[in-house]
Amino acid sequence: MTKFLGFFISILTIFSVLFSVHLWRLPRGRLMIDFLNVGQGDAILITTPDQNHILIDGGPDQSLLTQLGEVLPFLQKNIDFMVLTHPHADHIFGLVEILKRYQVKAILFSGVNYSNPIYDEFLRIIQSQNIPLYVARANEDWQLGAINLDIVYPLKSLLGISMENINNASVVIRLGYKGNHVLFTGDAESQVENEILKVGFNLQAEVLKAGHHGSKTASGEDFLDKVKPSLAIIQCGKDNSFGHPHTETLNKLTKRDVSIKSNDQNGRIRITISSLQKKNHVIKKQSSNIMFKGRGEVVSQRSPKPLSRVRFLPPLPD
Ligand SMILES: [Zn+2]
Repeated sequence: MTKFLGFFISILTIFSVLFSVHLWRLPRGRLMIDFLNVGQGDAILITTPDQNHILIDGGPDQSLLTQLGEVLPFLQKNIDFMVLTHPHADHIFGLVEILKRYQVKAILFSGVNYSNPIYDEFLRIIQSQNIPLYVARANEDWQLGAINLDIVYPLKSLLGISMENINNASVVIRLGYKGNHVLFTGDAESQVENEILKVGFNLQAEVLKAGHHGSKTASGEDFLDKVKPSLAIIQCGKDNSFGHPHTETLNKLTKRDVSIKSNDQNGRIRITISSLQKKNHVIKKQSSNIMFKGRGEVVSQRSPKPLSRVRFLPPLPD
C-alpha cells in the first residue's frame, strides 16, 4: 500500500511539474514570434494571444521538430495555420515533417509550379489528409483572433504558374496586431520589393524578417525606406555556403539605425508584442528575447475566435 501511495505521489508530482511548465510557456495575452534556429533556412512560429499557432516555413531538415518541441506547450500537437512561402528545400522540408506528426488545420501557399520530390510529397500529404489549402493573393486578409495577416504578395494568383526564380513566388505577409506590424518576406528579392512598392501598399513594420536570408538580392534601399523597421531579423545558418547575410545588406540596415538579430549569431530569436497602451514602441533586448510594447488598445486576453478569412480562392486542382 505504501509502495502504491509513493508511486501515486510521484506520478502526481511529475504531472504538477509538467503542468507548471506548460503554464509558464503560455504567452499570457501577448503575441509571441519565435524565429526558430533551423540553420540555413526559414522557420517562424507565431503564438497569438488566443493560443493559435501559425507556422511560416519549416527550414531545411528535422531541426524544426526539436525547435518546436522547445517552444510549444507540452502535448501541443496542433498547428492552426501553416504558410509555405515558396517550395525551396530550406523552407519546405520541415513542414513535411510537421504534416506527418502534427494536426494542421489550414495551409496557405503561393501555388507556384515547381518540380521537386519534397514539394510533391507536401502536396500529396495535404490531399491525403484533406487539409484545406489556399492560394495566397494580395489584398486578402486572414484573421486569427486578434491577429491580422495581410497578404502583400503575390499580387495575383500564381497557381500552376512556372517561374525561373521561385524566390520571387514568395508569399509576403504583413502581420498586424493592435497597431504593431511585422513583415515576413520569405525569399522575395528586389524584383518583388519593387513590384510591391509600385502598388503602394502600406509596408510600415517595426520588425522586418529580411528577405532571402539577408542576401544582397533583397532588402533594397527604397524598400527599407518604406518599411522603416526598428529591428531586422535574419534567418541564416552559421558559416553557410552563400555568405549570408551579405555585408551590403548589413550596411544598408545599420545606416538606417536598424537593430539586427540573426539566427547564426543569436540562436533562436523571440519577439514578444504586448498590447499595453504606450505612446512609443519600446524594445527591450535581453539576449535573444525582444519585447515590443505597442500603442494599441488593451484587448481581452483570451477571446478565441475560429480561423476566418475574408475571401476564398480555390484549393489545389488535381
Ligand atoms: Zn531560402
